[in-house]
Amino acid sequence: MAELIFLGTGAALPSVERANSALAISLDGTDWLQIDAGGDIYRSLARAKIPPDGVKDLVITHAHIDHIGALPSLIESFRLSGRHTPLRIWALSEVQEVIQRLLSLYRYELTLDRWPFALDLRTIDSGSTPTLAGISTRFGRMDHALPSVGVRLDLPRGPVCYTCDTQPTPALPALARDVDLLITECTFAHRDVADARISKHMTALEAGQQAAEAGAGALALVHLGFGPRFSEAEARAEAGISFKGSLLIPYDGQVIDV
Ligand SMILES: [Zn+2]
Ligand SMILES: [Zn+2]
Repeated sequence: MAELIFLGTGAALPSVERANSALAISLDGTDWLQIDAGGDIYRSLARAKIPPDGVKDLVITHAHIDHIGALPSLIESFRLSGRHTPLRIWALSEVQEVIQRLLSLYRYELTLDRWPFALDLRTIDSGSTPTLAGISTRFGRMDHALPSVGVRLDLPRGPVCYTCDTQPTPALPALARDVDLLITECTFAHRDVADARISKHMTALEAGQQAAEAGAGALALVHLGFGPRFSEAEARAEAGISFKGSLLIPYDGQVIDV
């Protein structure tokens, strides 16, 4: 059975309970697609029992630190673990520029002799349909403070869409049309919608509206900015105003069958 693991479910500021948002998906439990690399992502992979050579394809959705900041240390951890399998890294061209600059900062560590595995940087954009870890995908640009990309995944139980960071946009329901599961960000309660517009994020109310517009069967909320101003109960109540399907607020490490 194909699995999707919520490696992290938090917003840019991690908490004890929630690391920066990231996902891992596999059809067979051997080859994995990882999405995003912020925070302490190598430990999150280890906790999920994904071996160092298990990630075949890595998508970086955009260049904010909570999604890209751990890339050099992830690659170095893979090297130290003895990985030999090539790693393909998929991103928008604007993000690939950041990746190359970021890796160049660590060129001493990352170009040591006996470098054991190939890094293969691949560019994607709206409409790209690469097969990642055996999974058919389709990408679409979202609307965030930096160029960002969401992905639709063709999985055995039905299509799943992960939007990454975005504010409400017609591109979201277009990419997520009639998916079984929409995984989208939910950084703010709607009382802070002005902050959401400044940083181009989404409120729980808006996440429910976008999921309803997409015709999604289920909705999972990640990139959760829970804290003194935003609770899980508020997220459920706000999203449920428009979205009447099943609503999941996953915890870090949660595994679901897809
Ligand atoms: Zn983020
Ligand atoms: Zn962001």
